[in-house]
Amino acid sequence: MSPWEDRVKTLIRNGRIVTAQDDYQADLLIDGEVISAIGRSLKTEAGQVVDATGLLVLPGGVDVHTHLDMPFGGTVSSDDFETGTRAAAYGGTTTLIDFAIQSKGQSMRTALDTWVRKAEAKATIDYSFHMIVTDLPDAGIEEMNSLIRDGVTSFKLFMAYPGVLMVDDGTIFKAMKNASRYGGLVCMHAENGSVIDLIVKEALAQGKTAPKYHALTRPTTAEAEATGRAIALAEIADAPVYIVHLSCAEALSKVREARDRGIPAYAETCPQYLFLSIEDYDRPGFEGAKYVFTPPLREKWNQEELWRGLAQDHLQVISTDHCPFCFKEQKELGRDDFTKIPNGGPGVETRLSLVYNGGVRTGKITLNRFVELVSTAPAKMFGLFPRKGAITVGSDADVVLFDPEAEATISASTHHMRIDYSLYEGWRVRGVPRKVFSRGRLIVDGDTFLGRAGAGSFVRRSTYSGL
Ligand SMILES: [Zn+2]
Repeated sequence: MSPWEDRVKTLIRNGRIVTAQDDYQADLLIDGEVISAIGRSLKTEAGQVVDATGLLVLPGGVDVHTHLDMPFGGTVSSDDFETGTRAAAYGGTTTLIDFAIQSKGQSMRTALDTWVRKAEAKATIDYSFHMIVTDLPDAGIEEMNSLIRDGVTSFKLFMAYPGVLMVDDGTIFKAMKNASRYGGLVCMHAENGSVIDLIVKEALAQGKTAPKYHALTRPTTAEAEATGRAIALAEIADAPVYIVHLSCAEALSKVREARDRGIPAYAETCPQYLFLSIEDYDRPGFEGAKYVFTPPLREKWNQEELWRGLAQDHLQVISTDHCPFCFKEQKELGRDDFTKIPNGGPGVETRLSLVYNGGVRTGKITLNRFVELVSTAPAKMFGLFPRKGAITVGSDADVVLFDPEAEATISASTHHMRIDYSLYEGWRVRGVPRKVFSRGRLIVDGDTFLGRAGAGSFVRRSTYSGL
């Protein structure tokens, strides 16, 4: 039977359903695009029956930080909405929130239309957008309100990249105040860009051009300072704030301190900060360029602090910041000058396996917390829950059958991301998605992709309501 026929019923039998709260054996019935029943020994006439004995039945992963088809420094991230969403699906992720970028002087509505056009004919899974605000005249405030009404309920502002994306504190404050009034959430790239720019200029003047200087010119204190400042601005604006890609213990302590005072400050981290370190920039030749993304990799000891933050809810979400640029041709642009290396790395496909293998199997986080971090909390944070991030009757049938015992080797030669290297080349992981359903349709079956371009839909998100 073709998975594209309407209203296929699928019965998933004998699986172990694991959500952010629960862990139990049951059958799951999918009717059309939604979960229609959960129970023991369900009796029903389903078009297809899947035996999930020995497998975990998880809500599909929600990755709230990706950059597909994104222009950067004269090139474009190498995955578009077709290859990027296909790779995501292979990795057990069934919803992405990417970023639409308002260029200076442009209306946010125009920016959104541009990004929807990039995605709509290509996406194989559901998607949404955060709006990157680079410019906020008074007319922009009504526009924020109008976007929120249309389901684009989060905005990202930059404290880094002066002259390109960076905005001043007044603009951040204004965005937070107004987003919050209308039910939106502001996400912050927290690094002190003005200071970093001066440090970078100094390094280049001294002839320090190798990839490792990308990391050495972006100190953890510049991230921590901006994290603290973003939280302070949110506090004055009486608004929630979400810090993206938090990379180090110093910044984490700012979030922890605010949360201890009851401030609605949230933060995500990404697998690269949990598994890789500043030592990766010392690889021979130009290899370090593979690890040039922002914030950069930090000293290894930060990893344990981040894991502790995840376990204790000082960090709420694991996203990827997937933003791939090929080593050959794209990263090459910065061979003689690290500031010209396109910033970004691949990761949308490997998030669940890496975090399961490195977090759950090592006892750093529980299985329930794993589901919460990669699916439920991001869905709640960004107005997708309980449609996404949940295994409940009525939720979208975005379901992953995850084999906790299967092993795989991560490699650029076998991954599905359109990029010529992996950050984790040769790593062995245990815990692999076997089958992936997107709104009731089986789109990944082992090594076979059954999804199709354009089948993913733009999802209108609800307003911010906390976790
Ligand atoms: Zn990013």
